[in-house]
Formats: sequence, structure tokens, C-alpha cells
Amino acid sequence: MEPYPVVTSIDEVFKARRIPFSSEHKRLIADALTVAHDAHEGQKRASGDEYITHCLATAQILASIGMDAQTIAAGILHDVPEDTTVTLAEIEKRFGSEIAYIVDGITKLSRIRLTEKREEYFLENLRKMFLAMASDIRVVIVKLADRLHNMRTLEFRPTEKQLRIARETMEIYAPIANRLGINEIKGELEDLAFRYLEPEHFATTQAMMDELTATSGDYVRRSIEAFRTELKEEGITIEDIHGRIKNTYRLYQKLSRHEMNINRVYDLFAIRIIVPKIADCYEALGVIHKRHRPMIGRIKDYISLPKPNGYQSLHTTIFGPEGRILEIQIRTQKMHNEAEFGIAAHWLYSEQTRSSWKSFFRRKPTPSIETPRELLWVKQLQNWQQEIGRDNSEFAEGLKIDFFKNHIFAFTPKGDIIELPEEATPVDFAYAIHSEVGNSAVGAKIDGRMVALDTHIQNGEVVEILTTKEKKKPGKDWIRFVKTSLAKDHIRKALKKLDN
Ligand code: MN
Repeated sequence: MEPYPVVTSIDEVFKARRIPFSSEHKRLIADALTVAHDAHEGQKRASGDEYITHCLATAQILASIGMDAQTIAAGILHDVPEDTTVTLAEIEKRFGSEIAYIVDGITKLSRIRLTEKREEYFLENLRKMFLAMASDIRVVIVKLADRLHNMRTLEFRPTEKQLRIARETMEIYAPIANRLGINEIKGELEDLAFRYLEPEHFATTQAMMDELTATSGDYVRRSIEAFRTELKEEGITIEDIHGRIKNTYRLYQKLSRHEMNINRVYDLFAIRIIVPKIADCYEALGVIHKRHRPMIGRIKDYISLPKPNGYQSLHTTIFGPEGRILEIQIRTQKMHNEAEFGIAAHWLYSEQTRSSWKSFFRRKPTPSIETPRELLWVKQLQNWQQEIGRDNSEFAEGLKIDFFKNHIFAFTPKGDIIELPEEATPVDFAYAIHSEVGNSAVGAKIDGRMVALDTHIQNGEVVEILTTKEKKKPGKDWIRFVKTSLAKDHIRKALKKLDN
């Protein structure tokens, strides 16, 4: 296993960010480093490296996904109150309440300790993550960067710790990175955890990949040059074009669905083409299809119909140069940033937009500025937790269902998007619109056809709920097939009211 390079200087942190820091922000980060450096003086990592290398590596990861200077300073200071004699109060005095708040959040998260029952610990951990997330999402982003570096250096820990940490990473951290859309971190966390949890499968998959990379690497490079020329000839501007290799863990999952036959995995390599505007994406697709025959059934327009996690791109699989099968992904830079960095991509936007999110959390109306979808979801979670109250087991149970299931998007006839877990029904859809719509629902249409109320809605379908004014109560059997906690809650409440 190749060791990760140890981060030893602040310049490596600065270089990791594509948008340069202002000199004021550089000073802030350098100040944080001075404090952390003195505080951790003499402490060593399990690897034998100076402790400060962990603080720097965490900061470098945060910079690489485009986080702001405050978050990076908090990333550098994240272990100070827990592991050194410097207190949170001192951090607040020197760096202000915002940075201290993030550091405090991380300290609280790291205090979660294993209780006797594993399951209980897992759920408690999750719950705290979410509470932290709902108050300031940056706490969770720093925690993800911290975990990523700990995973990169996991080889230095004892075996039983490796297993526990890897498992926690696969079950908690990777899904959270996924939900926040930080693909870059999610993929690496999964691959690292996979290596420790299933070493044999990891080794076989990795060997397959290495062999293919050795035989196909040059082909991918030749194809990139071919596409570059073809698109240029047709007058299309390319902002970037590069190859990408599928993550090891994702490849393994796909292989296990295809009898471990790597020849049936068409998207092991893909070529990504970044163009300036949405219209250019379709034009580039046209140019490529004109010259290379596309494979039937593999053209996907995730621009008009984004994936449940918000992912946007055009995908096609073609018989490429030299007659070999190749997947092409076409997107704008904005789509690319959001696909790789998710919620973190929004930190690249203006300060004004971000301050509007803060007021969003304070429940002030901010009608003019579009709120990122990831934050809407956090808000939903916050409200939902308040509704359910303090009953941990119910909250945790709901989380398992609503959070870890893949989500789908359905549309109202007017085109509004309703986000639901997989296998959600028209009744879930109705309650997601409004409790009154749910209670007075008598039937539903999906894509214009009448369907039963327990039908599973598929991604992208248009759902119309038929209601009557006379009816004001849910069906008694609905509770058996609804999927969302929200619908269950409303149905129980409405039925209870009728009983009284
Ligand atoms: Mn740490």
C-alpha cells in the first residue's frame, strides 16, 4: 500500500485550493497553525510523525474541496481543546466565536464513546452528528476531513481499532459525505474502509483494476486527444477534458452484480468533458454521437432529470476510437464542482449568499435567494427532529429509513419537486405536500394513469393526488404501506383525533 505524503507546510494547504486565499485569510490560517503548533508541541501520531501533520492534512483536505478560511482555521485547531492544555475559551478570545463554535462542535463529536451495546452506540453517534449538522454544517465537514486523514493513516493503528474505525467510516461517515454530495471524500472513505473490512475482495478488485489500467491507460489518453480534436473542429470550447477511473469499492459492488465479469462493466473508465454552458453539453453530445455510434439504452440526460442526490451531467456509452466501448460524461464546471464537492461547492459562492443561509436557519424568510438543496434537507431534518421530540429510538429508527435509503424525486403536475425515500407511495407524496392533502386523498395518478395508493413511485414520475372536500381522514390501512416518518406521524395523529 502506498503511503500518503505527509503534509508538513502551510503552503501545501494554500496550494490545495483552486481559488486563492486573500492575504488576510492566509494570515488567519497561519495564526491558527502557530497556536496549534505550540499546543501540540511534542505530541506524536501513531505513525511517528509530529501531531501537527494531522492538523495540516485536515486543513489541506478542507482547502481542496474549497472551504473558507474560517473552516480551515477550525480544522487546524480541531484537536486543541481535547488533546492539549489550551482551552476553548482561549481559542475564542484569539479567533472569535465563529471558529470557536466549529472547534467546540468537533470536540463534542469526538467525545462520543463506545457503550456496551454496539447498535446503541452507532445510533447515538448518528444522532449527535445530525444535531451538529443542523446547527452548523461546517462542523460535520471538518469532521469528515479529520476522519479522511485518520483513514489514510489507519495502517499505524492496532488491528481491532482498524476494524472498528473502518466500519464506522463505512456505516456513518461515507453515507454522510454522500448525503452532503461530497463525492470526492465519499469515494476515498469507502475505498479506504473497504481495504480494511474486506481485504481479500479489495485485493482482487484492485488487481483487476491495475491490470486494466496498465492495458487501457494509453488508450484513454489517445481517446482524450481524439475527442479534443473532434470537438475543436466543430467549434466547441472545452474547459477541461480528463479521464476518471471508477472507485475500487464501487467497482467491486458492480462486479458482484455481474458475476465478477469485468468485461460487463462499461464505466470503469470514463472521459469527462467540461464545457462552458448547458447548451454546449448537448451540442458536444451531438458531435460525439455523429462520429461514434452510441450504445442503445445508455444515453442518460441527468441535466434535465438530475439523479436523486442532485447530480447533473449527460452520460453516453459509445463505440469509441479503435472500436472500444467507452463512457463519456459531459457537464459544465458548476455541475462538476457540485458533483465532486457537493455542499462544499457552495462555499465558493458569494458571502452574501452564505449569510442568507444563516438567516434561513434562524427562520427568517429569504425568498429572493435560492437555498442549496442540501441545506433544505438539513432544515427538514431539524423540523422533523423537533416534531418527533426527544424519543431517541423513534428518531433513530426514522433516520435509518429516511436517511440511508436512496431518495427519489417525484414531480407535482405543476413541476414542483418532492423528495421521497425509495418505495414511497402516493400517500407519502400527498403528506409531503400538506397534511390536508394527505388526509383528503382518495386516489392518485402517476404520469396520467390511475394507480393504487400503495404503488411505489419511481424517480422522475409526475404524481397527481385526487382529493375530495368531504373526506378528512386517512385510510386505516395506510400506515402499513407508507414509507416516510412524516406520513406515519400525520396518519397516527389524524386517526387518534377521530377516536377521541
Ligand atoms: Mn483529529
